[in-house]
Amino acid sequence: MFVGHFALGFAAKRAAPKLSLALLFAACQLADIMWPVFVAAGFESVRIAPGITAFTPLDFVSYPYSHSLVALSLWGIVLGSACWLLGASRRASLLIAGLVVSHWTLDFVSHRPDMPIYPGGALWGLGLWNSVPATLIVELFLFGSGVWLYSSATRAKDAVGRWSFVALVLFLLIVYVASFASGPPPSVAAVYWAALVGGLVIVGWSWWTDRHRQAV
Ligand SMILES: [Zn+2]
Repeated sequence: MFVGHFALGFAAKRAAPKLSLALLFAACQLADIMWPVFVAAGFESVRIAPGITAFTPLDFVSYPYSHSLVALSLWGIVLGSACWLLGASRRASLLIAGLVVSHWTLDFVSHRPDMPIYPGGALWGLGLWNSVPATLIVELFLFGSGVWLYSSATRAKDAVGRWSFVALVLFLLIVYVASFASGPPPSVAAVYWAALVGGLVIVGWSWWTDRHRQAV
């Protein structure tokens, strides 16, 4: 899943108005921020296999450290504990931990059975990606709901808060549509560089946008 993860980050702002949208995005996307680093380092692997699903040509051969349920639970405990030690409330820290683990659940719905429970364990996946229309309906519905929850839980302090938010939403949608409409990527390196740079840009952009908005 792609924009579906950001939907949960947007929605979580309503439950934890003091946390920056950047932290909420980083939590729900932590798996996909670590993944390109682990692929580049050779701990995990991906293959370009056009046709493997209708929606994405990526064959996630192995990604136990960034995407297994057990690893994401541990990463959730690490990030949630760090937030708690840095002064976040217990509720907000638990929310962060939950968002990290939520990545597994959403990917489990969309991926073919390639999502590990634990490194070396059984692979799971409901395969929503086998249908482009079903993927778009589910994910855009989630995304629309998340954007609506965030926009109703916050108010722009200035023009940056208004237009940077609109631009961020459009950027996420354009990247989402381009990722499946542009055909298979040229190389695995192009995949991990795009994932890493894109992930960091979106987190930075969300931090900037959120600073120019306030909870209502
Ligand atoms: Zn993922």
